[in-house]
Amino acid sequence: MAKEYVIGIDLGGTKISGALSDVDGNLLSQYTLPTNAFEGETAVLERVIKVIDKVLNDGNKTAEDIKAIGIGSPGPLDAKNGIIITTPNLPFKNFKLVDPIKEKFGVPTYLDNDGNVAAVGEFVFGAGQGTKNMVFVTVSTGIGGGAVLNGQVYRGNTSNALEIGHMTLEKDGPRCNCGNYGCAEALASGTAIGKRGKEAVLGEEPTSLKNYDDVTSYEVFLEAKKGDKVASEILDKSLEYLGICVANLIITFDPETVIIGGGVSKGGDIVFDKVKEVVNTRCFKAMAESCKIVPAGLGTDAGVMGAVALAVIESK
Ligand SMILES: [Zn+2]
Repeated sequence: MAKEYVIGIDLGGTKISGALSDVDGNLLSQYTLPTNAFEGETAVLERVIKVIDKVLNDGNKTAEDIKAIGIGSPGPLDAKNGIIITTPNLPFKNFKLVDPIKEKFGVPTYLDNDGNVAAVGEFVFGAGQGTKNMVFVTVSTGIGGGAVLNGQVYRGNTSNALEIGHMTLEKDGPRCNCGNYGCAEALASGTAIGKRGKEAVLGEEPTSLKNYDDVTSYEVFLEAKKGDKVASEILDKSLEYLGICVANLIITFDPETVIIGGGVSKGGDIVFDKVKEVVNTRCFKAMAESCKIVPAGLGTDAGVMGAVALAVIESK
């Protein structure tokens, strides 16, 4: 009988979530363990294996029934060789994650970074279904992304393509966590919006943001929607940068669809209207008109569904 099942693992800084699924994305079983990164890399690997064993067992399947295992993890990593190079919230340093799992279960195993996995998830099961070329942008604490081009994940030479949070948008702009200046992430992420809000609280101009003990992007959105001038200006400026980032992606890839996910995208029309306005101003008309800009289709289980999608797409 043909193997019709896959396993997806979302390996994050706080938890390891796994699912056993058929190739159409119908989940048979799910299991989550805390990552406990402080225990070190071998312990985390053992927990990943435990999650795989558990979802197999709960779904009444064995490794023999499994076509592929997909793993999504924060980068940077070497997707081709299944190595996590380093990442702030996980204990791995040049750790070969894939080989021991492949060996233990005898199943082809694929590793990819969060951004690519989320893009594949949207392509196979979410808002990118039916498209051939799509770019995914996630805007929350940071900004990340991934692209599926001609039906395949585009990873680039070192598997770090679409690190769009670090696209320079302002040459003398604010310093980014990466050390560069004026990155998209330093100008348009949720963190950046919150930071501008905090600065406004200390400023001269009256603003309802001053009524809060702590200001994050959430309060900036809230007060902008209520009509506060300062909050509206902060948001408008940040979203203009997000729009420029998306316009640059459209100019580069000429995609059918740009999908925007992450916490900031939950702002709804205020976000999408501004991004579309900037895209219409800055991109060639034909490209802008033929490209849909839509919210992500997958919800809270996007990480695990993306990993399932990675297993499906890579084992085709
Ligand atoms: Zn940066």
